[in-house]
Amino acid sequence: LADARVAVVTGGNKGIGLEVCRQLAGSGVTVVLTARDEARGAEAADQLRATTGLSAVLFHQLDITDAPSVARLAGFLKAQFGKLDILVNNAAIGAVEYAHDPDYCSVTSNEKEKLSGMDRDQRLGWLWENCRETYDTAEKGLRTNYYGTKQVTQALLPLLQASHDGRIVNVSSDFSQLRLFRNEELKRELNDIDSLTQERLDDLLGMFLRDFEAGAVETRGWPMYFSAYKVAKAAMNAYSRVLAREHPELRVNCVHPGYVKTDMTIHSGLLTVQEGGNRVAMVALLPSGGPTGAFFEDFKESSF
Ligand code: NDP
Repeated sequence: LADARVAVVTGGNKGIGLEVCRQLAGSGVTVVLTARDEARGAEAADQLRATTGLSAVLFHQLDITDAPSVARLAGFLKAQFGKLDILVNNAAIGAVEYAHDPDYCSVTSNEKEKLSGMDRDQRLGWLWENCRETYDTAEKGLRTNYYGTKQVTQALLPLLQASHDGRIVNVSSDFSQLRLFRNEELKRELNDIDSLTQERLDDLLGMFLRDFEAGAVETRGWPMYFSAYKVAKAAMNAYSRVLAREHPELRVNCVHPGYVKTDMTIHSGLLTVQEGGNRVAMVALLPSGGPTGAFFEDFKESSF
């Protein structure tokens, strides 16, 4: 193989993750496409190989919330490659209940027509109207999007350190940005990367869930609408920056893929998966010695 780099993509069976697998494999990287569902993941990998003719796409099961599953992936990578060059933490959930089942019905042609005439904010408004956030979805959102991502990262860290150019790309969101926090003290803490610790992040997330349960999301200045999703992604960003500080030998960056037509957004987004996946793949494939601890949006560095 010309390029012996190895990448792992979480949540690779569909949406942006699948497209990132396609683009990385197309750039000569050996891709381990992972998915929590064995059958859906294996099928996605088979199809990718068949449609691209790229043989360097492997499948491995991974549920980011399941410690034994994470350990099995780490064991596989260690035995197979002895290192990992690129980790794309893409897997996440919307942390809401959907009025429509996005997996099966997506949107009716009538609604598609309605959506096509809407701008970004109107589309997001439509999306919110079709979603419901409950304590359970909020808790599961933090568990998956923050704690799951962190668990995978920690397990694969030694393998990334065994690469001479290890990279972590955390698929974040413009919904994670600190300007959405109206509580100035919270915003300051999440931005004070030199003092922030993982324990403090745990405390803050615990506080968020208590406030959510008490119906105090708005009064306490947490982000509103998709609040758990926003808080989980903001925590992931902060963790990413702490990691970049602690591991100067790695490149650890976050990227907003744009507002993309996928199941997560009930296909209400403005960008195609190719366009969204491209924004993520670009960060994964940055030349050596590039930025770390950064946030990317529309192919360039932006602010957290
Ligand atoms: P999709 O819902 O299409 O895909 C999400 C993927 O994550 C699926 O493969 C899903 O698997 C997987 N996943 C969910 N939970 C787990 C888990 N516990 N373990 C392993 N895999 C899991 O969403 P997108 O493609 O839109 O989202 C990809 C990333 O982009 C996410 O991080 C999202 O937050 C981010 N993003 C998306 C935006 C958009 O507009 N679409 C905007 C900003 C950010 P399964 O099929 O089994 O459910």
